[in-house]
Amino acid sequence: MLEVSRLTTRYGAISALRDAELRVGSGEVVGLIGPNGAGKTTLLGSIAGLLSPAAGSVTFEGADITGHSPEKLLRLGVALVPEHRRIFGDLTVEENLKIGGITQSRDERAELLDEMGERFPVLREKRTVAAGYLSGGESQQLAIARALMSKPRLLMMDEPSLGLAPVLVDVVFELIESLRSQGRTLLVVEQNATRMLEAADRAYVLRSGEIVAQGTGAELRERPDLFDTFVGGNGQ
Ligand code: ATP
Repeated sequence: MLEVSRLTTRYGAISALRDAELRVGSGEVVGLIGPNGAGKTTLLGSIAGLLSPAAGSVTFEGADITGHSPEKLLRLGVALVPEHRRIFGDLTVEENLKIGGITQSRDERAELLDEMGERFPVLREKRTVAAGYLSGGESQQLAIARALMSKPRLLMMDEPSLGLAPVLVDVVFELIESLRSQGRTLLVVEQNATRMLEAADRAYVLRSGEIVAQGTGAELRERPDLFDTFVGGNGQ
């Protein structure tokens, strides 16, 4: 479904991502793990049209989407839940969700709103509340629900568990599991490598701007050279 080939992205003279190769098959849940500053957000942003790659290509369902804008990608079925949620604090929960469904027809949008209400009861309960008043866990649910409103064929998430209390981290991983059981295709950046490897079919390990390993959780956990990916605060 998604093929990333030799993708390189620079910030000025710094190559934050070098020759990245990555593939996500339809219905797969793929994790992207690695220490702070490894380039995970850069890779996701380069796929999602937030950053312009200096070299390489991104292909989605056979079409070259390298450098496409986020709006164009949304219409093609590629959605991103960005780091730090980035929801509209002054707008209500429901207004945020409607914005997520902007590419859908009116009827479809209403149907999706109902679906999100069932999946995220707290969002239904607080639908008239300004999103700025939501807790961290609720905001994350809203950010994910907003992305789901676009009926994405590929959903990418950047650090969905970041800054959440442990019980809410569980909620996020339960949600990933439930999306996976529905056959959704996900690419998820996570600092929490241990949990991500349990939740994903496969994962890629990024370090200093390069993909240094890929495989199933079982395969990656057996690699002693990747030990530092799972400890030192990144695997907890
Ligand atoms: P984190 O988990 O801390 O978000 P990450 O793996 O997502 O880390 P990136 O945010 O992609 O890493 O950063 C990769 C490298 O690029 C880092 O060395 C970072 O300092 C650098 N970098 C990121 N954004 C910029 C920017 N806007 N300008 C210059 N350098 C940047």
